[in-house]
Amino acid sequence: MSESAPVLTDSVASANRQRALGHLAPYVSEPLGHFIEGQPTSGAGGEPFDVLDPSTGETLGQVLGGMAQDVDAAAAAAKRAFPEWSRTSGEKRRKILHSIADAIEQRADEIAVVESLDTGQPLRFMSKAALRGAENFRFFADRAPDAQDGLALPTSDHLNYTMRQPIGPVGVITPWNTPFMLSTWKIAPALAAGCTVVHKPAEWSPYSARLLVEIAHRAGLPAGVFNSVNGLGEGAGRALTEHPDIKAIGFVGESSTGSAIMSQGAATLKRVHFELGGKNPVVVFDDADLDRALDAVVFMIYSLNGQRCTSSSRLLVQDSIHDEFVDRVAERVERLRVGDPLDPQTEVGPLIHPRHLDKVMGYMQVARGEGARIRSGGARHDCSPKGYFVQPTLFTGAHAQMRIAREEIFGPVLTVIPFATEEDAIAKANDVEYGLAGYVWTGDAGRAHRVAQAIEAGMVWVNSENVRHLPTPFGGMKSSGIGRDGGDYSFDFYMETKNIAIGLGQHKIPKLGA
Ligand code: NAD
Repeated sequence: MSESAPVLTDSVASANRQRALGHLAPYVSEPLGHFIEGQPTSGAGGEPFDVLDPSTGETLGQVLGGMAQDVDAAAAAAKRAFPEWSRTSGEKRRKILHSIADAIEQRADEIAVVESLDTGQPLRFMSKAALRGAENFRFFADRAPDAQDGLALPTSDHLNYTMRQPIGPVGVITPWNTPFMLSTWKIAPALAAGCTVVHKPAEWSPYSARLLVEIAHRAGLPAGVFNSVNGLGEGAGRALTEHPDIKAIGFVGESSTGSAIMSQGAATLKRVHFELGGKNPVVVFDDADLDRALDAVVFMIYSLNGQRCTSSSRLLVQDSIHDEFVDRVAERVERLRVGDPLDPQTEVGPLIHPRHLDKVMGYMQVARGEGARIRSGGARHDCSPKGYFVQPTLFTGAHAQMRIAREEIFGPVLTVIPFATEEDAIAKANDVEYGLAGYVWTGDAGRAHRVAQAIEAGMVWVNSENVRHLPTPFGGMKSSGIGRDGGDYSFDFYMETKNIAIGLGQHKIPKLGA
């Protein structure tokens, strides 16, 4: 049993919870609707659904399940706003986006407590995530004036030059794991590029998305440029992906949902950008700095409750250090502080939803059935009888063909797999359908490059946990995604590249019928 803080009784946590509930009060007195053309609206008045507090199982509020009519209204608003916003100078877009960043910073504390209450993600991580949302806006604000820049590709007869133009109104569909930060990650570059947006936030964590759209408008974003429609994936989500006026879908979520969206968008030839699931390896060689590797291994699976696309959910550890290293991991896992996410001391909070709890708990049975050892955890955590807490869990004695080594569990659950040689490590690292991120720990510079280059993943960190530098490309290979975010890569998605060829007056034009 993991050591736990006195959950839901700690006075700091209670005070934070009261503050979060106070911030939520305006949004829970009646079912929360949508935000279209600069105004809150109940729209077509779809069926309301409950939003749950993951720490207690109680209902926080209700949200209207947006329908096709609501998506139509939001897409129409985005279409109306597009001509003017796309022609607004980059300099002006830059100013507005910086104002949004300022406003996010001013309300970062409110965003963090609301996000923590709504998702169960520990406050210690959510306070940074709120600020990261502001950084995302600032980063893309500064790139707005140059977003259209292209290349000069001259020949002796023609001057070819390229420029980028915003693709049109776009849809953004986001998941529940770090909803505020992820929404800014997609929406800020779209706005900087000159696109207008219809956002469909995750149904299990809708509140911080509402804060974002309101903040953006109060900071000066014109009505219709950024709209938000709440609802279920099969309802509002599907309607958005099928809408003819929506030119592209930026999606973050499960691989199977990405596949559904691809077919839903086929009839309207939707451009898609997918950031999907992962089963990311962290490979620890016996020549690594094992103290630092230990910190990174534990951080990258147990932070954010393991509900993180880039979590290192498979620990591949060299035979020669396996037993000792795993003992050290287990010792840390036993000491993780599980508890109220609103307690700043808490390291692991509850899972988002009872359905996700069932999924994660199902893997405890799978592990037993497959003959792995549950070295730590393996059961629900008892800190809140109705909350969705699980014990941080460590599976050992696993091999690469087990489901616990291949499937994304998306909880605080780590599967350890031993390896013998560098070749064996690479083969095991790549023996999954996913390819989002990889982590390599070694003291040998040549090996670091060889293994990093051989791992089938869009991003590899060597001797580091996931540390993002915003200009770098973010995205996955294989079933983990299509396309890259970050820096200029985001503009490639939200913009069309146009080539303009100017004849210089010298070249020979074929004369037909002359
Ligand atoms: P999900 O795919 O169930 O839902 C994501 C969003 O898609 C939600 O808003 C949902 O309503 C919507 N949706 C569902 N069905 C839809 C449909 N048919 N048409 C349109 N929209 C639909 O994912 P989730 O459970 O919310 O999030 C967890 C997943 O997200 C994990 O697999 C995780 O790895 C992944 N993720 C990936 C990244 C990344 O950058 N690669 C980042 C965070 C999370």
